[in-house]
Amino acid sequence: MNQSAFVFMGGTFDPVHHGHLRTALEIQQWLAVDQVCLIPSKMPVHRGEPGCSSEQRLAMVQCAVADTESLSADPREILSEQPSYSLLTLQSLRDEFGPQRPICMVMGMDAFLTLPSWHNWRQFMELCHILVVTRPGYHYQPDADMRDFMQRHQTDDKQRLLGEPAGCVLLHELTPLAISATQIRQLIRAGLSPRYLLPDRVWDYIKQHQLYGYRTN
Ligand code: ATP
Ligand code: MG
Repeated sequence: MNQSAFVFMGGTFDPVHHGHLRTALEIQQWLAVDQVCLIPSKMPVHRGEPGCSSEQRLAMVQCAVADTESLSADPREILSEQPSYSLLTLQSLRDEFGPQRPICMVMGMDAFLTLPSWHNWRQFMELCHILVVTRPGYHYQPDADMRDFMQRHQTDDKQRLLGEPAGCVLLHELTPLAISATQIRQLIRAGLSPRYLLPDRVWDYIKQHQLYGYRTN
């Protein structure tokens, strides 16, 4: 049976913003898949600044995708008892979807450049494809390890991502949006509005729950 690819994007989404949402939508349209799923991770360590809980990050992602049929949110990492390791998430997706369904993990260039420091990263290729999207300020500069990895896995053919279960890396250019959650947290902490960088509904949620040091005065 030819099952459609499962395409997802992980991240802390602290908070989710238009850089994430536009990326997910462009990828959904470019691959012509039904949906792209956002999977928020548990936070590894405390940042030492006012933030929000995992449940609140999940709630903001859920509210950001609620009115877009082609985007969805999956709570598996936040609800899991286990730490948020991509390998565990990929194994859990593989168990759910079986060995044949293509799984495609989307990540920005900034995240991809740190890949060699991720837990068991070389095993990812047995479980999924990686679709790397451009992000303003980050350039593809592979070291020797990464160059060797890319020689074995890189493709320009998106049909392979849709037809094979796993094993390819594809670099793809997006509409550049220089938005980051760090910038949004800094604006809020400084008493400035982050409006138009993220959905109004997410901004309303932040104000309502007084997240990231938001103050009314
Ligand atoms: P922070 O500043 O807290 O690190 P962030 O904006 O980088 O937040 P993350 O949750 O860390 O957001 O990112 C989740 C995923 O989305 C990563 O793969 C990241 O590369 C990608 N991403 C985030 N913002 C953008 C953007 N503006 N353009 C393209 N990809 C993005
Ligand atoms: Mg980030």
